[in-house]
Amino acid sequence: MVLVIAGCASNAYKATNKAYKKQSKEYAKLLKEYPVKDSTGLNYATDWVGTTNFSMRRPNFVIIHHTAQNSCEQTLKTFTLTRTQVSAHYVVCKDGTVHHMLNDLLRAHHAGVSKWGNNIDINSSSIGIEIDNNGYETFTPEQISSLEILLDRLKKAYNIPTPNFIGHADIAPGRKVDPNRNFPWQQLAEKGFGCWYDTTGVQLPVDFNAMQALRIIGYNIQKPDAAINSFKLHFIPTDSSNVIADPEKKILFSLQKKYE
Ligand SMILES: [Zn+2]
Repeated sequence: MVLVIAGCASNAYKATNKAYKKQSKEYAKLLKEYPVKDSTGLNYATDWVGTTNFSMRRPNFVIIHHTAQNSCEQTLKTFTLTRTQVSAHYVVCKDGTVHHMLNDLLRAHHAGVSKWGNNIDINSSSIGIEIDNNGYETFTPEQISSLEILLDRLKKAYNIPTPNFIGHADIAPGRKVDPNRNFPWQQLAEKGFGCWYDTTGVQLPVDFNAMQALRIIGYNIQKPDAAINSFKLHFIPTDSSNVIADPEKKILFSLQKKYE
């Protein structure tokens, strides 16, 4: 008799699910220690007084990625191999299935070297969402619909500000280009996830500075061309040039007001 095990994800990931449980138990143990012991190496044990009023830290940003891989299965595998050291809280497959891979209150390794405003540890303050996409495809309606439900829940649960729904390319100009230019940022902004612009009747101030506007929005402008590329990928996806002429300046001026 041949025992057929139906394609059940929990079986395929039995060993790594066990590793997840083990690792989260280690962190739970650390949190339970008193006098308080954390990773700073400071020791105030003798004068320790525990407060009665606290909760877990909460995410304040959502970073959207495309996986640049060929299937959800491939991504689940990547995120369950310790040698890769990369992960995300959620993976959204083409059929709209959402794999929750890490508690929202724990730190996933999805942002890498990044900067938004003066925030350089985006992993510590964000939820990472990976969307199955090889980097060039359009996103499926099922993916976007699942994503919208997820974003709505995250926004409400953690009170995430509207401008703080951004992409990996936004926080890592010159290094990352995800999600690709097919991602429907405008559609999401219309639902309250991220900002969009309105240039109707916009009059540019004579001293308007486009790079300063990019910086106000949050972009790292150390490499100006890379920052412009990331901005266009998100807000003017049909334009892959580095040119910032008056129409683009008006868009920046309109956005700057929403992010400042
Ligand atoms: Zn990414």
